[in-house]
Amino acid sequence: MSLAVMHEDGLRVEGVALAEIAARFGTPCYVYSRAALTAAYAAYRDALQAHGLAQRSLICYAVKANSNLAILNLFARLGAGFDIVSGGELARVLAAGGDANKIVFSGVGKSRAEMRAALEAGIHCFNVESASELEHLSEVAGSVGRRAPVSLRVNPDVDPKTHPYISTGLKSAKFGVAFDEAFDLYRRAATLPHIAVKGIDCHIGSQLLDPAPAAEAADKVLALVDRLAAAGIVLEHIDLGGGMGIQYRADAPAPAAADYLAPMLSRLAGRREKLMFEPGRSLVGNAGLLLTRVEVLKPGEEKHFAVVDAAMNDLMRPALYDAWHDIARVGADGTATGTAMSYEIVGPVCESGDFLGHDRLLALNEGDLLAILSAGAYGMAMASNYNSRPRAAEVMVDGSAVHLIRRREDVAQLFALESTLP
Ligand SMILES: *Cc1c(COP(=O)(O)O)cnc(C)c1O
Repeated sequence: MSLAVMHEDGLRVEGVALAEIAARFGTPCYVYSRAALTAAYAAYRDALQAHGLAQRSLICYAVKANSNLAILNLFARLGAGFDIVSGGELARVLAAGGDANKIVFSGVGKSRAEMRAALEAGIHCFNVESASELEHLSEVAGSVGRRAPVSLRVNPDVDPKTHPYISTGLKSAKFGVAFDEAFDLYRRAATLPHIAVKGIDCHIGSQLLDPAPAAEAADKVLALVDRLAAAGIVLEHIDLGGGMGIQYRADAPAPAAADYLAPMLSRLAGRREKLMFEPGRSLVGNAGLLLTRVEVLKPGEEKHFAVVDAAMNDLMRPALYDAWHDIARVGADGTATGTAMSYEIVGPVCESGDFLGHDRLLALNEGDLLAILSAGAYGMAMASNYNSRPRAAEVMVDGSAVHLIRRREDVAQLFALESTLP
């Protein structure tokens, strides 16, 4: 929320005015803050430290939240591991200088080619999500002469009380191994010569604001770990997934990392296993914003529209989840000449679902810049080229410097892989 701060020249991120970024790099443009990314990571580190767990824990950034190489590289430099869900993400992490030995590989549909690539890279662990996957992985590992390190991703059947599209730990979800089947599947895994049983994993959903469901899941996982140990299957690590929510609205605060994590960490403090987390949104969400310019103001009888140059293809969360992002005028206070009124903030895409915010009270002029806040997670990562729109530029602010970390696509690139009939 505090990413963009008002100065006499309008909103700034760290030491740089957003108006200057728009002038240099154009709009729409994603803007990230190195300091904010670093602080979000430090909040996890500090919480682990406070429970005496820093030495035997690993924070694996969930790459799918934002996979830009500069962001991956920054987290790698901070010591993070990575949670990947595809061979593409594996390649990105390695290209960004990430350590293969700190990668965990999640996902319900890993292909054999992806398994092979991850085995050859020497990743830390596969989070296996089904009985079939375990058999496939065993075969692939055998064929390349390796043992695959494995956790089972168990589905603890707890309700995380979040949006149904991002709720993953209920019995009805496609994710993970049903809790009641996990014990037997561990016993099967322990008999497979090309599988090395290493740990256990769970991830119950995203944008979680109440720590109770995650703590309940942790209790179930720990009980299973103890039952497995009693049967001779001793696990080295416990991975409690990601999911911690962030503040999207000024009037709806999210818990601090220390408070959200405390119930889980206190349960782990007296144990011997290594601890892992897979945070995505909470490391990047509030460290980024989407900068956009008002193209057209269109007053109407029922609604007033502000058509901006960013759209659902740039930031899909409002259209997909009806998600809220705070939207702020970048101009310095007092520079608006329009009257404040309630606007629908919409993009140019030909869909009525193409909106970035409903009913926002703003004093706008055509040409004004707007900052769509808390857009660092699941923003650029979900962007598409719908309507043949080149994807936005991305920049990272570092103090008073700005670095271009992804060039704006140009239109010719959008159809460079296509061909007409002979
Ligand atoms: C998406 C995902 C995460 C990250 O979730 P956040 O809510 O962004 O923290 C972690 N683990 C797995 C397996 C995921 O699919």
